[in-house]
Amino acid sequence: MAYPAPSSAEVSSPTPGIKIVHAEAYLIDIEAETVRTDAVQAFLKQETLFVELRTSDGQTGRGYGYTIGTGGRAVLAMLREHLIPQLLGMDCRNPEAVWRTLFNSSRATSVGVITSLALAAVDTAIWDLNCRRTETPLWRAAGGYHQTIPLYDTEGGWLQLSTEELVAEALNSQSKGWRGVKIKVGKPSLAEDLARLHAVRDAVGPELDIMVDANQSMTGAEAIRRAAAFESVSLSWFEEPLPADDVSGHARVAGSTSIPIAVGESIYSLGHFREYLQYGAADIIQVDASRIGGITPWLKTAHLAEAFNVAVSPHFLMELHVSLVAAIPNGQYLEHIPQLRSVTRTEIEVRDGHAVAPDTPGIGIDWDTDAIDDRRVA
Ligand SMILES: [Mg+2]
Repeated sequence: MAYPAPSSAEVSSPTPGIKIVHAEAYLIDIEAETVRTDAVQAFLKQETLFVELRTSDGQTGRGYGYTIGTGGRAVLAMLREHLIPQLLGMDCRNPEAVWRTLFNSSRATSVGVITSLALAAVDTAIWDLNCRRTETPLWRAAGGYHQTIPLYDTEGGWLQLSTEELVAEALNSQSKGWRGVKIKVGKPSLAEDLARLHAVRDAVGPELDIMVDANQSMTGAEAIRRAAAFESVSLSWFEEPLPADDVSGHARVAGSTSIPIAVGESIYSLGHFREYLQYGAADIIQVDASRIGGITPWLKTAHLAEAFNVAVSPHFLMELHVSLVAAIPNGQYLEHIPQLRSVTRTEIEVRDGHAVAPDTPGIGIDWDTDAIDDRRVA
C-alpha cells in the first residue's frame, strides 16, 4: 500500500477547543557548561530552538531542538517559513498526523538534519501540550515502564582532559553512586588511548561500567585494531567508531569484537536505524529525540530496537530523555551531560545513582522563561 495522507479531519480540528491557534519559533544560545572536546569537534554552545503552541481553549505546549553550535538559524528559517504556518488549525491530539503532514510537506529537504531538528521542536511541543491537556507526565503518556534510570557520566571523560583528571572524575562519579563513566577515545596513538583507559579501570575497580566514544573518527581497520586492544579494559560499549553512514563498516567492527557497538546520535531516520539493526551493526541504540525528529519517531526507534532485543541508551538531552527511557522496557542508561541548568528552575532528580522521571504533566522540564528570554538571539 501507499501511505495514505492524513485526512483533513485528522490534521485540522473542527473542534474550537482543540485547534492550534498560535505557534511561534525562536532561537536562544546557551553557553556550554564546560569545555567539551572529542576526536573530531568541540561543543561550542547549545543553539536551542523553541516552539511554543497554544490552542483556542488556552492550553499551551513548549518543545525544543538543538545543535551544538552550527546551523541553528537554518533550522529556525525552516520552522518560521515552512512548518509553523501549517500548524495553525491543526488538531494537537493527532501527533502522527501532524508529523507526517509536515514531513511530507518538506520532502525536498528530508531526510535531513535541518528538517529533523525542526520537526523535533514541533513534535515535542505537541507532546508537551497533550500531556498538559491530559495532566499526564511524559514518562507515563509515552509508555510508563520504570520511573528510575541508571545514570552514566560523560561530563568527566572529554578528550582534552589529562589522565589524572579522567581518573579523578571517574572516582567522583563512582562516589556519587553512578553506574558508569564514558571516556572519549581517538588520541593519535592507540597506546595513549589504552593507557588512559587502564588508568581509569585500575582506579575504579572491576564493577563500574566504562564506555568509550570515538565520535566517528576512525577507519574500519583502525577501529578493529583499537577494539581488540580495548578488550583488556572490560568495556561496556564502543560508541561511533566509524562515520555514521557506514553501516557495513560498523557490522564488520561489531563482528570482530566482544565489546558492544553503540550508535545513534548521528542518525536521523527510523529507516537508517532499521538497517543498522538488520545487519547486526549496532548492539546499543543511542537515538536522540531532537535529531530523529521528535518524541513520535524516538518511540518508534526504541520499539524497533526492542524487536531486535537491543537496548536503548539515548544521546545527550538528559532532561527530556529521562522521561523517554522511563517509558520503554529496553531502556538501559541515561547520559549525564547537564546543559540546561541556566534556563531551568529545577534540576533533574537523582536518587542512588538513578535519575527519576518527573511526575509533572508535560515533558517534565521546569523552564525558567525569564532566563530563556534573556538568551534569545533570533
Ligand atoms: Mg557520542
